[in-house]
Amino acid sequence: MPDVRNCRRCGKVYNYIGNPLCPTCIQADDEDFKRVKEYLYKYPGAAMSKVSEDLEISVDKITRYLREGRLEIVGEEANIVLSCENCGKSIKTGRFCDICQSSLTTSLKKTATDISETLAGSSNSKKEYEMRFLNKNEKK
Ligand SMILES: [Zn+2]
Ligand SMILES: [Zn+2]
Repeated sequence: MPDVRNCRRCGKVYNYIGNPLCPTCIQADDEDFKRVKEYLYKYPGAAMSKVSEDLEISVDKITRYLREGRLEIVGEEANIVLSCENCGKSIKTGRFCDICQSSLTTSLKKTATDISETLAGSSNSKKEYEMRFLNKNEKK
């Protein structure tokens, strides 16, 4: 029996395979991410509000990319708006600090699909902060 759900973004019914968005929206989402990525190559350390404005991509969505560990905040601690979901320590990317990350690696996979649900609490900040690409090769 397939797990059928409504897409969080467009509301369309689709076969749930671990992502809260339907395949069409995942693709659109990837396109947006690519635009953010290219923008940050051109303007490293650009403020989030500026990125959002220039690309017409919501701050919430860029925050989600941060939560997913695809982007990383750089700069002063005052700019940090994310905190470890396990111990509350300030972090610059993802959902957990390094310590919790390593101990939670297995359970993280399980909760990864709930990322967008947990974003609501952290997306209100209007603070400007800088970011750059996270080198995926550093992880693991
Ligand atoms: Zn959709
Ligand atoms: Zn932690």
